[in-house]
Amino acid sequence: FVDIRHAKKSYGTLEVLKDINLQVQKGQIVAIIGPSGSGKSTLLRAINDLDPLTGGEVWLEDKQINKKLPHRQYEAHINQVRQEIGMVFQHFNLFPHLRVRENVTLAPKMLKGITDAEADKLAEEQLDKVGMLERIDHYPSQLSGGQKQRVAIARALAMNPKVMLFDEATSALDPELVEEVNLVMKKLAEEHMTMIIVTHEMSFAESVCDRVLFMDQGVVVEEGPPEVIFRNPTSDRTKEFLRKHL
Ligand code: ATP
Ligand code: MG
Repeated sequence: FVDIRHAKKSYGTLEVLKDINLQVQKGQIVAIIGPSGSGKSTLLRAINDLDPLTGGEVWLEDKQINKKLPHRQYEAHINQVRQEIGMVFQHFNLFPHLRVRENVTLAPKMLKGITDAEADKLAEEQLDKVGMLERIDHYPSQLSGGQKQRVAIARALAMNPKVMLFDEATSALDPELVEEVNLVMKKLAEEHMTMIIVTHEMSFAESVCDRVLFMDQGVVVEEGPPEVIFRNPTSDRTKEFLRKHL
């Protein structure tokens, strides 16, 4: 479904990704863990070509995302691809001058040409899903971090993506706000949304994921089911990392 083949990425002489392979099946939830600077964000951002790879291929179903195309064609292609991929960052990146409602409906209105009535219905549905319906006419500045992040998730879901990418969605939040965002992600998991989640929260990863990848220095050191990676890892590097983070 999502297929990353021999991904390589360098910044000058710094090799950030060294031949990474990752296959995610439809409905699967994969966590990526690893120390700071190991290449987790770079890998995630390569999926929608925000950080284009220097080598290798990224596929979503039958489409190669990072294919080489003349500029005009590439723009059309990547805009299409990005509609199918929801991304949630550490810092919510909501549009500060727009109300919650318009934050959710802006992209579908512009890209899918839906009517105002359809947009209102969509905003209500998606915000209800993340428990933010009551705040539909608030501005982002009037929300807590956890609420902002839930709106950011609703905004991504409003495009009806095939896969959701989360890059440390809770790591900028105060501890008491983490749980409300985790609950939304758990609910998506129960609905079999395909998700790739970069996280520092090991217990969350263990409870929600089908598979865990441990990355270090641009390679996948070890991967497997959470009960194996967290409880019975084989690599010394994984053990060392978990000793510090469990
Ligand atoms: P963290 O847990 O801190 O978010 P990460 O695993 O997400 O770390 P990346 O952000 O993917 O790590 O970065 C991997 C490496 O690539 C780091 O050494 C970083 O300094 C380097 N890097 C990232 N972006 C750039 C850039 N634009 N130019 C040069 N080097 C970069
Ligand atoms: Mg990162």
